[in-house]
Amino acid sequence: MIVECVFVGTELLLGEILNTNAQYLSQRLAELGIDQYFQVTVGDNPDRLEATLRQALSRADVVITSGGLGPTPDDITREVAARVTGRPLRLDPGVLAEVEGWFRRTGRTMPENNRRQALVPEGATVLPNPVGTAPGLIVPAGDGSGKALILLPGPPHELQRMFTDHVVPYLTSRLGDRPLRLFSRILRFCGIGESALAELLGEDLLTRSDPTVALYAKVGEVHLRLATKAATPEEAEGRFAPVLAAIRERAGRYLYGTDATDLETAVGALLRERGETLALAESCTGGLVAQRITAVPGASAYFLAGYVTYSNEAKVEVLGVPREVLAAHGAVSEATVRAMATGARERSGATWAVSISGIAGPTGGTPEKPVGTVWIGLAGPGVVEARRYQFRGSRQEIRQWAAQTALALLWSHLREGRPQG
Ligand code: AMP
Ligand code: MG
Repeated sequence: MIVECVFVGTELLLGEILNTNAQYLSQRLAELGIDQYFQVTVGDNPDRLEATLRQALSRADVVITSGGLGPTPDDITREVAARVTGRPLRLDPGVLAEVEGWFRRTGRTMPENNRRQALVPEGATVLPNPVGTAPGLIVPAGDGSGKALILLPGPPHELQRMFTDHVVPYLTSRLGDRPLRLFSRILRFCGIGESALAELLGEDLLTRSDPTVALYAKVGEVHLRLATKAATPEEAEGRFAPVLAAIRERAGRYLYGTDATDLETAVGALLRERGETLALAESCTGGLVAQRITAVPGASAYFLAGYVTYSNEAKVEVLGVPREVLAAHGAVSEATVRAMATGARERSGATWAVSISGIAGPTGGTPEKPVGTVWIGLAGPGVVEARRYQFRGSRQEIRQWAAQTALALLWSHLREGRPQG
């Protein structure tokens, strides 16, 4: 079965709101194993919407629209769908009573406009909306092809509720008795870039099908997605297993977690397992790493302290960085991050300390230390080290890259007792 989604709203084309319904519907359809070859966003314009719906119906079995079911004159999806399917609109007394009931329950009088929401194309199925006024509609195509238009309201919580309650059962009933679903597994790698990882994995692995393999570069990490269509989780697992084994053999030392396991969770699990503790000394990241570490439930078992030492004075007073080091090398330097990490480790008593000092921009760069220069230090049992990085992007992006890279550096020490790469 092929589904095509059509997102209706001029505000989407103007970039005033983000099309989160696209992500939601695409994820749910993929999970159901339903193919989507196109999705279209169109403004609140009857002619263009009509052409879009006709085209979508010509190349998909089911077309799902989002938006344009409201009470105002620019909400035209219902009328256009009626025209495209050749089904005249009739006022449905049951739906009218529902809409009126919604206004009564919320203590308001119904504007005359809202009567439009009770118009139903002849032969359509009404999908109740318990969390809003606009009901959804399943409108069979008028040409006897068995195709259908499904109209859903734009507000995401209304669309999601209606999709789960009514559209999923409708779609699964159309899929037959042994529907295939899409199963996927995300493998998360750090300490290695996308192209180096691709080389390590090899072309044979990356171009294989069923399960398909795809790499996605993220901030300071790379995700690999395995996907297959199967009837049961066991069937999918059976197909993943040999590919997973090959991936682990080739690139296992960079693999820090699967699916929802993020880097802070992986680091926390290793610290807990080893019975060790952590302190942080952050400058340009302003506590971003501490925020991520403490977002993991149970972090108090291993996280002792995070020092945000933004000024030189704080680096001296709080961490004991020697004034001479700052004077001779500057705050963004190897010597400073080494002293920050050593100081944080000593003062907190933690097993490990990680330090970050860099130039996040947009100002403050020099030819020797351009914006994006970040030094990351690490102190642990028998080890003090520092590395220089050159990140690109906005201030926020540089800070995120720095935080992620610091966590990755720590992870590789915890995992192997020595850094990689
Ligand atoms: P509408 O049904 O077109 O009147 O849309 C009502 C509201 O739903 C809009 O003002 C948006 O806030 C929201 N909305 C509509 N379409 C989308 C979409 N594709 N993604 C996220 N929100 C949306
Ligand atoms: Mg709209």
